[in-house]
Amino acid sequence: MGAEPNITGITRGGTAWIPQFAVALDEGKCIGCGRCYKVCPRDVLTIVQRAVDDVDFDDDDDDDDDSDNSFMTLTNPMDCIGCEACSRVCPKACFTHEALPVAA
Ligand code: SF4
Ligand code: SF4
Repeated sequence: MGAEPNITGITRGGTAWIPQFAVALDEGKCIGCGRCYKVCPRDVLTIVQRAVDDVDFDDDDDDDDDSDNSFMTLTNPMDCIGCEACSRVCPKACFTHEALPVAA
């Protein structure tokens, strides 16, 4: 028995493509900007508040509108379609994506 084939998609024009599913999100690097949440079409992500002990009250990272008081989590990873929109807008490269086998 060989390995299970990866999940593949196809464009309207008939070109095959391999979805890259979000398999991890580095919550330590995340600044809670919400960009990924806004573009995700599948409600995979949820933003949560950091515990008070973890909040950096001396936010000196020169972000204008971003807050380190919250971070994003992968709450519904099984709904991900592997579009990678989240990574395209993430300013901190928080996401890890992988192609996955059909049976995963
Ligand atoms: S790859 Fe697409 S569907 Fe999956 S979490 Fe990112 S934006 Fe959402
Ligand atoms: S776009 Fe990146 S930094 Fe912003 S909330 Fe999402 S994971 Fe965090």
